[in-house]
Amino acid sequence: MVSFKNTEIAFQPLSDKKLQKTLHMFSFMRHSKLTRIGSHALKLALRLRLPITPLLKNTIVDVFCGGETVDDCHSKIDTLASYNIKTVLDYSVEGKATEDDFKESLNQILQNIIAAKKSFSIPFCVFKVSSLGRIEILEKVSRKTKLNLEDQQEYDRMIHRINKICKKADQASISVMIDAEESWIQDAIDNITEGMMKTFNKERAIVFNTLQMYRSDRLDYLKRIHKDSKLNGYFLGFKIVRGAYLEKENSRAKKMGYKTPIQINKYDCDNDYDSALEYACENIHGISICAGTHNEQSSRYLMQLMKTYKIEKNNSSVYFAQLLGMSDHISYNLANDGYNVLKYMPYGPIKKMLPYLIRRAEENKSIAGQTGRELNLVNKEIERRES
Ligand SMILES: Cc1cc2nc3c(=O)[nH]c(=O)nc-3n(C[C@H](O)[C@H](O)[C@H](O)COP(=O)(O)OP(=O)(O)OC[C@H]3O[C@@H](n4cnc5c(N)ncnc54)[C@H](O)[C@@H]3O)c2cc1C
Repeated sequence: MVSFKNTEIAFQPLSDKKLQKTLHMFSFMRHSKLTRIGSHALKLALRLRLPITPLLKNTIVDVFCGGETVDDCHSKIDTLASYNIKTVLDYSVEGKATEDDFKESLNQILQNIIAAKKSFSIPFCVFKVSSLGRIEILEKVSRKTKLNLEDQQEYDRMIHRINKICKKADQASISVMIDAEESWIQDAIDNITEGMMKTFNKERAIVFNTLQMYRSDRLDYLKRIHKDSKLNGYFLGFKIVRGAYLEKENSRAKKMGYKTPIQINKYDCDNDYDSALEYACENIHGISICAGTHNEQSSRYLMQLMKTYKIEKNNSSVYFAQLLGMSDHISYNLANDGYNVLKYMPYGPIKKMLPYLIRRAEENKSIAGQTGRELNLVNKEIERRES
């Protein structure tokens, strides 16, 4: 079994200087108060149009992002590839709401597919449905509110964009992961993604939906859709995550007086996460998965399941995925042992990526333990190099 304790393997591409920079970033992020002040300061700087780009470029962006354009990302993609890690280019511009923004996102995602087609190092691309259409429309569709003519036309344009991406990915033999978002727009996202799977996953999993296992209904959903896929003859693809909007989900449910869709505790979330991995491994001929997690125990459990169900380490139906600059001890040690590993590489114009970066900083509250762990590992590696 792979050990995640080997920091020499985990940080092998980082120079001493870059390791120190990583240490400073995690030290800062560990303090939730500082992170909160930092994200408020970023929002303010953005509003006041202060020149913060050079500072961000040399800190957060250098450690956690590929750059501003796909071309900027190439050197990081090549470095990862030299350690057997593949890249998922993630155009991380969030919170946009105009038709021009949606066209720009579509354009970027199509460019990613072209970049992926040319490179063995990019087997997937990814997008958020909310980057291709307005959240209000997704919310109405999820609530089953009847759309007026104008809304319907807007919705049709969104579907047209998604169809274009999936079709191009299919032609290029690149898989496409569709991110999971807030529960009040997720029904619409699920419906759209199911439709795309039925069309494009006839021979293999091109389109992947995402399951957030912090929702108490997701294991049943997985089983239900698996039944449907067997009945209707298509393959399933799922990225399996715990979920990024915990506090937002719980506080909205409380404010609006409905039962939160979130599990009652972390223990139940972890159990369902591992059960979803097991269900997929049991049914690996019909379900491809990407375990998007920084959790060591779940990563170990997936290795164990692969052994139990006699799934080769490099079987293309099972991927492990982490975010760039996070949990390198998991990514590099798994890749070193021959497992399929992906790094999500966010990129985009720095100012436009700020809402994404702020959301990531705020998400730290529900993953506080991870930041402390990262810090310990970086410290351990610095000590090892100095000894
Ligand atoms: C490659 C990749 C892709 C991702 N894509 C998406 C995506 O499309 N959509 C999305 O929403 N997120 C996505 N995420 C984020 C992910 O959902 C998690 O927020 C993040 O990875 C932390 O979970 P973990 O499994 O790594 O680790 P852990 O530290 O073990 O788990 C932390 C997570 O557990 C859950 N949790 C914490 N406390 C509780 C509680 N009291 N009750 C119930 N649950 C609790 C929360 O989801 C929290 O984020 C992605 C993450 C990765 C690595």
